[in-house]
Amino acid sequence: MGEQRYDVVIVGGRPGGASLAARLGAAGVRTLVVERARFPSAPAVSAPFLMPHAMALLDEIGADEAEYAAETPRLRSFVLELAGYFRSKLDFESELAGRSYYYTIDRAQLDTAIWRGLSRFASVEAWSEAKVCGLLREGDAVRGVVVERGDGARVEISAGAVIGADGRFSTVAKQVDARVTERREDVETTVYYGVWEGVADYEGPEPLAQIHSGCDGFAFVFMPTARGQTLVLAQGRADAFAALEGDPAAIYEGLLRARPRVWWRLAGARRVGALAGMKRVGNLFHEAGGDGWALVGDAYHQKDSIDAQGIYDALLGAKLLAASIVRWRAGAIDWQGAVKEYEAGIYAACKPMFDSTMGRLAREIYQVPPPMAAKTVMRWMLTHPDYGRRYSALVTRQIEPARFLAPPVMLTMIAKGAAQRLGRRLRGVDPSDPLPLRSV
Ligand SMILES: Cc1cc2nc3c(=O)[nH]c(=O)nc-3n(C[C@H](O)[C@H](O)[C@H](O)COP(=O)(O)OP(=O)(O)OC[C@H]3O[C@@H](n4cnc5c(N)ncnc54)[C@H](O)[C@@H]3O)c2cc1C
Repeated sequence: MGEQRYDVVIVGGRPGGASLAARLGAAGVRTLVVERARFPSAPAVSAPFLMPHAMALLDEIGADEAEYAAETPRLRSFVLELAGYFRSKLDFESELAGRSYYYTIDRAQLDTAIWRGLSRFASVEAWSEAKVCGLLREGDAVRGVVVERGDGARVEISAGAVIGADGRFSTVAKQVDARVTERREDVETTVYYGVWEGVADYEGPEPLAQIHSGCDGFAFVFMPTARGQTLVLAQGRADAFAALEGDPAAIYEGLLRARPRVWWRLAGARRVGALAGMKRVGNLFHEAGGDGWALVGDAYHQKDSIDAQGIYDALLGAKLLAASIVRWRAGAIDWQGAVKEYEAGIYAACKPMFDSTMGRLAREIYQVPPPMAAKTVMRWMLTHPDYGRRYSALVTRQIEPARFLAPPVMLTMIAKGAAQRLGRRLRGVDPSDPLPLRSV
């Protein structure tokens, strides 16, 4: 094994890998980050809401919001629709880092901003258009990587530790045969999305996310993003998607067209660029590390996008792993101790939200609500403003998921929502009635 120029080699340079490199750079750790893509570049699949808890972590690594969110509208509310039963416009409330808004972020813009920020750190080298194609070993221990650079040349790089920040289909996880410690296959969904221009306003010019549950195993999300474009996502039970025939673009458009409450906004719009998507989005945890290696971000923990936690979890994992690596480099703990400490912290931070997300998939995608419940208790609860407050707190990780819909909270919201509904019916106007159907 040749001279060891790096303490750490990170495979993958997006939220998990590049933010880890930034934190290690700030601590003076000699770091090489190797990324297959060339920036500006977006990951193959990601239709991301970016929320204040993730932005607070981006602040910590010096990422500039004006740069990563350039020309991207701030979203301050969202509307939930339950098929033809009701709709609920709710405020997005969060005082985290002074931000009561969220974005549908342009991933190429975000990932490029984090990547470029690495040039500030003298101890960090960042190689793009370079692919890790193998690991160097000493017995079972990982001691470095084999990199194929853009010109086809292969180089062997030894390092104190190798970190897989290389996403869902992680090469590092495969090569070390990382154990899956937990997996949920019973609630998997399939997702397709496209970028649209000229999407009709929902109800006035305020940009907001529209989340439309078909109550039939499918849901649709309108996500206003940079430069006036809108991502439109169709998500459904993986088995229901698999039963549909045709190519992905025809299936996607067919699903949208079949729903007048969704299609009316798209009838005069046009889809630009390629359709993206993922079949059977995985939900799992891997073991977090072993002799000479660790995993962070999606390589460690993957889950459905319904609660939009992937970027936050990747940034948080990088923060926790960086702290353990710094202690390892300082000799305070050995590598095994560093992995143990990191794994305990990141698992405790992610597991309750993971269980909550799996519960939502079961309730909101996999089960069809009985019409009577949709017309009464669900309507009363989901149209009460407290629901919006609590949902904002849930997805910015400000309340424990177990407390999100604790029975006393639910009962209070249902009672208040029912009283509100009665008052509106007596007045003859109820803004939670579904939007009237338009002919398109
Ligand atoms: C449909 C969908 C919707 C989503 N919506 C949201 C959302 O609303 N909000 C949210 O926060 N998250 C969302 N996510 C999740 C989010 O995209 C991920 O959690 C996040 O990108 C994870 O970051 P990462 O750095 O771990 O991995 P990635 O972003 O996947 O980056 C991994 C990088 O590793 C590189 N790489 C892979 N192999 C190699 C190799 N051998 N050598 C060199 N480089 C390599 C890849 O090129 C890639 O750039 C969504 C995901 C999907 C699929």
